[in-house]
Amino acid sequence: EAPVVLVSACLLGEACRYDGKSKGSSPVMRALEGKEVVPVCPETGAGLGIPRPAVELKGGAGAEVLAGRARAAEVESGKDRTEAFRQGAELALAAARRFGVRVAVLKERSPSCGTQGTHVDGAVVRGQGVTAALLSQAGLIVVSDEEL
Ligand code: SF4
Repeated sequence: EAPVVLVSACLLGEACRYDGKSKGSSPVMRALEGKEVVPVCPETGAGLGIPRPAVELKGGAGAEVLAGRARAAEVESGKDRTEAFRQGAELALAAARRFGVRVAVLKERSPSCGTQGTHVDGAVVRGQGVTAALLSQAGLIVVSDEEL
């Protein structure tokens, strides 16, 4: 049976990014050849629109947001988006559980999907986005598109 991999939908060519673009990646497509793929976009899954205002994490990376010690907010307006980001992460985890997924390939540096780096307080720092943090905590192996 082919392994099932959870993948950030924007890496598969879906134009679901905050700026209305995709990040379709041929290395990712090549690495996923012969595997079953479950595409997820946590942010649009949680009801955020396309395009949508850019969001960054405030006060800490994804694990801190999940622990209630940091939050997600729109960069320009400061509008709080923590709930949507948590909800998006939960949706991704639910999809992973439903399809028996052990590995996720996620878009690097996104405040949801970043696995090695993400946007916190105006800078890209080492740390995971909210979805990557929740999937890691649930025991999935989380890799970024840039590691493939
Ligand atoms: Fe959606 Fe994640 Fe891609 Fe952002 S990085 S568009 S949240 S799949």
